[in-house]
Amino acid sequence: METVTLVGAGIVNLITALELVRHGYEVTVCDRAPDPRSDADWTAYGCTRGGGDGRMFTLTEADSYHNRSWNPDGTSNRLLERPVSDHGWLVAKPGSLTGPELRWAADFHRIPPGLAEIYNDDIFEVNRTAGDRWRELVSDEPRLFSDDTGYADGILRLYTESEYFQWHLRRNNRVGATRRVLSPGEIAQDYPALSAACADGTIAGGIEVVGFTVNIHRFVARLVDSLETAGVRFRWRTEITAIRWASGVVDGLDTAGGETVQSHGYVLSPGAYGDELLKGTQSHHRIQGMLGVWFTVPNVEPQLARSLKIARKGHRAEETNVTLAKDADGRPVLVCGSGYGWTGLNPGNIDSTELDVLFDSLEDTLRRFFPEAHAAARAAGTLDASRQLCVRPWTASCLGVFERIATADGGSLIVTGGHNTGGFAQSPVVAEAVVAAFQRRPHMMHERYDPRRYEGSASLRMT
Ligand SMILES: Cc1cc2nc3c(=O)[nH]c(=O)nc-3n(C[C@H](O)[C@H](O)[C@H](O)COP(=O)(O)OP(=O)(O)OC[C@H]3O[C@@H](n4cnc5c(N)ncnc54)[C@H](O)[C@@H]3O)c2cc1C
Repeated sequence: METVTLVGAGIVNLITALELVRHGYEVTVCDRAPDPRSDADWTAYGCTRGGGDGRMFTLTEADSYHNRSWNPDGTSNRLLERPVSDHGWLVAKPGSLTGPELRWAADFHRIPPGLAEIYNDDIFEVNRTAGDRWRELVSDEPRLFSDDTGYADGILRLYTESEYFQWHLRRNNRVGATRRVLSPGEIAQDYPALSAACADGTIAGGIEVVGFTVNIHRFVARLVDSLETAGVRFRWRTEITAIRWASGVVDGLDTAGGETVQSHGYVLSPGAYGDELLKGTQSHHRIQGMLGVWFTVPNVEPQLARSLKIARKGHRAEETNVTLAKDADGRPVLVCGSGYGWTGLNPGNIDSTELDVLFDSLEDTLRRFFPEAHAAARAAGTLDASRQLCVRPWTASCLGVFERIATADGGSLIVTGGHNTGGFAQSPVVAEAVVAAFQRRPHMMHERYDPRRYEGSASLRMT
C-alpha cells in the first residue's frame, strides 16, 4: 500500500484524505493546529475551523474577483492598495508590505478582462464538476450530510439593486443554478423572516439556486471521526517547517520537532498559513491571505428557513453568506460571514481599525436584513462575543493552485490551495485531481490550476 503524507487539515486536505483512503492509500495528516474536535480557541486554527460555523456550495462559488478592481473605463481602481475604509480591500498594516506582496497586488490589478473571463469559466467548470461529486458524496457518506452537521439543501440569493439582480440572474441561468426567481412580495410571503427587509425596499429580488450549506465545524469533526475509523492517522500540533530537497527533488518533510517525515507521496495544502513551507515550489509567494469576518445571531421567530447569499453592490460587506445553524445548546442561530481584507503573505498582518470597518459593515447588513435578530444579539451582549475572522487562501489570478513536483523515489509532492471563496465548494474536485496525479492520469485541474499559467498567458504578455 502506498503511503501519503498530507500537510494541513483544512477542508481541502480532509476531503483529499477521504478520496485517497477510498482509493487504498495509507494516509497520515499533519497539522500544526490542535484537533478540530477539541475546544481550543478558534484563533488556533486555519481558515476552515477558525471562522464561523457555516460554509456553502453554489455553482458560482470562488469566481474571479477581478471585475471589482476595474474602473468603468477599464483602468485599475487599485483595489488592493486602498484600505477597507476607502472602499478597497487592504487590511494589512500601513507600510508593512514586502516586494513579493506588492508584485502579487500588481499581478491582480493587471489581469485583462478577457483573461479574467476565461479563468472564470474554468472556475465554474470546476464548480459544476464539484456539484456532481458532492451529490455522490451525499449519497455515499450520509453521516456527513445530516441534521448533526447542519446539512441544508438550497440557497436563496438576495439582491438590493435591480440591475445587479438581473446580471446575477443571467449568470445563474447560464450555469444552470436557477430554481426559482422571486419578487420582493413573493420573498416576504415565502420567507416571513425577511418581510421587514422586503417592506422597506431593502430587497430588490431573489433567486432560489442549487446549493447547500453545512455547519463546517461539525462537518469537519464528523469527517475526522470517519477518516480515523477508515485508518487515517492524524498528527495534531505537528508543524512541518520545510520540504527537504536532495539535488532538486523532494526527499521528505522536516518537522519542527527535528524529525524527517518520508512517504511515497505528499500533499501540501496549508491554506494562507504556510508560505514558508512552500519555499522552493512554484506556489511560494503565490497564495496570500484575504480575511473575512463573522457574526452569529439568534434565528428569532419567524425563523429563517433557508441559508442566504446577500449581495449589496458597492457596500463594504458586498457579499454576506448566512448559514442556518445551531449553537452549542442546540438553539437555532444564523452564522453570517462577509468581507474582503487582503493581508499579504502574513495572515496575522491586520490593521485593527480596518478590521473594525469590516465588522461594522457586516453589522450594518444584519441590521438591515434581520433587525430583530440583530437587536436581540445586541441586547443579550452576544453579538460582539460572536466576532470571529478567518483568512482565505487567495491567488492573484483567482485560480486555485495545483502543482506537482517529483520526489526522490519516483513519487509526487502536490501543492493545492488558493481557492479564494470556494475552498469548501471545490474540495471534492481537488481530491479527484490529487488521486489522478498519483495514478498518473490527466485531470483538467492539473493544467488549469498550474501556478505558472497566469504568467505564461499570451494575452497578459500583450498588455
Ligand atoms: C467569510 C468567509 C466565508 C466563506 N464562505 C465559504 C463558502 O461558503 N464556501 C466555500 O467553499 N468557501 C468559503 N470560504 C472559503 C473557505 O473557508 C476556504 O477556502 C477554506 O476554508 C480553505 O481551506 P484550506 O483547507 O485551503 O485551508 P485552511 O482551512 O486554512 O487549512 C490549512 C491548514 O494547514 C495548517 N498548516 C499551515 N501551515 C502548516 C505547517 N507548516 N505545518 C502544519 N500545518 C500547517 C493550518 O494549521 C490549517 O489547519 C469562506 C471564507 C470566509 C473568510
